[in-house]
Amino acid sequence: MPTEADTNCIFCKIVQGEVPCFKIFEDRETLAFMDISPVHDGHCLVIPKAHFATVFDIAPRAVAAAARTAALVAKAVDQAVKPDGLNLIQANGPGAGQSVGHFHFHVFPRKMNDGVAINWERVCGIRPAPAMVPWFLNHST
Ligand code: AMP
Ligand code: ZN
Repeated sequence: MPTEADTNCIFCKIVQGEVPCFKIFEDRETLAFMDISPVHDGHCLVIPKAHFATVFDIAPRAVAAAARTAALVAKAVDQAVKPDGLNLIQANGPGAGQSVGHFHFHVFPRKMNDGVAINWERVCGIRPAPAMVPWFLNHST
């Protein structure tokens, strides 16, 4: 399990106290801090303290802890900043826009018509991916 700190990882350096951050919450397994280039006021990040690159390799316990902290911080941001909405965003891989290879949630307050590109056009119509069907069949109860 890749839980050791990665010496090349900026977020591991933040966890170790080697790089400063504006910390807003910490518990045994997670840390939340302000994003260094916020899109809107209140934009912050929640990470597991252990190093996992993506959702594909994170331990269930670590993702659960990060999700719990993300929900807590999201409520705090919502009450303090009073945005028009708030996204939790979590990117995996360069095609998804991940620039730091340490699992993280963005707690991402939104404004009406802010033009943030994560919003894609909603086109109605379920399109099941055929390649997923064997997985669905094996995992549905
Ligand atoms: P992503 O592109 O989804 O991987 O998000 C990485 C985020 O980390 C970006 O929004 C960066 O602004 C933010 N970031 C990178 N380095 C730091 C840092 N030292 N302190 C706080 N936020 C950072
Ligand atoms: Zn790391």
